[in-house]
Amino acid sequence: LERLRGRLSRSRSTFGQGLLGLLGAGDLDEDSWEEIEDTLLLADLGAATTTEITERLRTEIASRGVRTPEQARALLREVLVDALGPDMERAVRALPHGDPADGGKPAVVLVVGVNGTGKTTTTGKLARVLVADGRTVLLGAADTFRAAAVEQLATWGSRVGAEVVRGKEGADPASVAFEAVSRGSDTAVDAVLVDTAGRLHTKTGLMDELGKVKRVVEKKAQVDEVLLVLDATTGQNGLIQARVFSEVVDVTGIVLTKLDGTAKGGIVFQVQRELGVPVKLVGLGEGPDDLAPFQPEAFVDALLD
Ligand code: GDP
Repeated sequence: LERLRGRLSRSRSTFGQGLLGLLGAGDLDEDSWEEIEDTLLLADLGAATTTEITERLRTEIASRGVRTPEQARALLREVLVDALGPDMERAVRALPHGDPADGGKPAVVLVVGVNGTGKTTTTGKLARVLVADGRTVLLGAADTFRAAAVEQLATWGSRVGAEVVRGKEGADPASVAFEAVSRGSDTAVDAVLVDTAGRLHTKTGLMDELGKVKRVVEKKAQVDEVLLVLDATTGQNGLIQARVFSEVVDVTGIVLTKLDGTAKGGIVFQVQRELGVPVKLVGLGEGPDDLAPFQPEAFVDALLD
């Protein structure tokens, strides 16, 4: 929690502490409520969630009477955790790991997202988490449009001890993905993580590339998880990207990266609500250990404490 607090310090100081300051002051007039709304909006919670949270706070304060800073904190915690949705912890635990009881079939995870969001880094960090958990992992470097991405993933592979299947620069991403899944099945690894190309030039282009990757992989194996990587610092833009991606592939989980670099950590609330897809992992820095399962209660505590 200490570490999470450190990484979320920018969001904590404005969003979390800002709300606590306003609510804890007691005797809320209309100006205070407006400030509360502004604080939520500035943290990127979005209009709908902001209204919902403000109304709930008003109702609760009217009925229970919040007098002390401790009561304000407890109420705020309850309301924010509820707004993040009750099923999240379960969703995180459901992240596929590969199950030895499954006849040696690897769990297949496609990692998708626009270039620059942290897709390749996330794929590498996820491999590290799985390997640390005792799983064998194979990485597919299907982001063949960016030579650096292939190199970057190869580096992660040797760092964490995962084989990497790579195509030549400009190779068909779908064929690399297929090869990775085939190789992973042959060698009976627990999980195959495929880093895909994220060129969002046009929706049709994306559909062609990413849709094809998924279709081709599915000739060989079932895709267990499609993780969409979103950069938390891109706000509304990130949400628009996310909508386009979810029209092209069935996104099963979100990875929200760069939460360490933003005061707008409230984007987590909006992303889940707007997309109806759980945030499963969060990126909290550039280092190999900076990927964490998203836990609503710990997240809210880190914002408030
Ligand atoms: P890709 O083009 O989507 O594959 O993006 P990369 O994985 O190459 O990442 C782009 C940049 O974002 C790199 O400099 C990463 O180190 C950085 N990055 C990725 N995730 C995070 C994160 O959670 N926090 C921070 N601060 N930087 C990150």
